[in-house]
Amino acid sequence: MSFHAVKFQTKILYRATPQDKRIDEIRKWAKIFHANNLTPIIESNISCGNLSFRINPGENKFIITCSQMGFNKELSEDAFAQVFDCNFEQGVVFALGEREPSSESMLHFAIYKSRPEVNAIFHGHSAKILENYSSLKLVETVKEQPYGTPELAFEVLDVLKDNNFVVMKNHGFVSVAETMDEAGNGTLKILFDIYSPSNSTSAKVL
Ligand SMILES: [Zn+2]
Repeated sequence: MSFHAVKFQTKILYRATPQDKRIDEIRKWAKIFHANNLTPIIESNISCGNLSFRINPGENKFIITCSQMGFNKELSEDAFAQVFDCNFEQGVVFALGEREPSSESMLHFAIYKSRPEVNAIFHGHSAKILENYSSLKLVETVKEQPYGTPELAFEVLDVLKDNNFVVMKNHGFVSVAETMDEAGNGTLKILFDIYSPSNSTSAKVL
């Protein structure tokens, strides 16, 4: 696993921090994911993972954590960006923010577009889940694809279908749900299943 730089071009439509009280729910889940090593820290205090929620039903706009954020501390206001649209052919993400939106913004956009009932998408990295996915009968992508690319987004869509949890081959996982609590708790449930029964208290709910 290497450093996740932003691969697409971002067009920042204007520089501002998105305002939405649901951002506090992302803050909560960023802490829980960090505490459970679901978004491990790599170099320079950067967490590997990104969390988002859909702003309005029927639209594909979403608020997502920015690139190169550390979930080991309270996320500041400028740690979030709003993505309006994506152009997959040109590799462009249209956003509002003080910083670049997450490197996996195209993945989130593609999922919101194909699953209208999904309002929350959490992407993280977990060696434990990658090691155990087959015994847990989790769906896995067929082919490893470079992070931050439309190819990775389409690879995930190919197996996501009606599933709410997908393992991304040699990479990480994506958990989707109608609410952030469901996306987060769905991931914690998988961790509990890995650790149980002998060590069923390993997942830390804050
Ligand atoms: Zn990733």
